[in-house]
Amino acid sequence: MTRTIIEIAQIRAIDLECRECHYRGAWQIGDWRQPPARCSNCLKIWIPNPNDELHKNLELLVGALRAFDALNKAKGILFVLRFELDGRDKE
Ligand SMILES: [Zn+2]
Repeated sequence: MTRTIIEIAQIRAIDLECRECHYRGAWQIGDWRQPPARCSNCLKIWIPNPNDELHKNLELLVGALRAFDALNKAKGILFVLRFELDGRDKE
């Protein structure tokens, strides 16, 4: 199986799909302010409370992606962090 490696700088957006209506939206990492509280299509609430653990974890994820992208570009850091993708088709 071929290994597919991506750089953090290649990650442009977080793609969220509503489990209810399957609407999909992409939220750009660079423009990320806060996660969407509800589906833009069916208006189902995705994150009931801004203090919810899901909200916090999305903020941590975006923050970590930004931080590691900056680290990868920094001089003096002796490694580059990348991700390996599973090449199998999703179900
Ligand atoms: Zn929806």
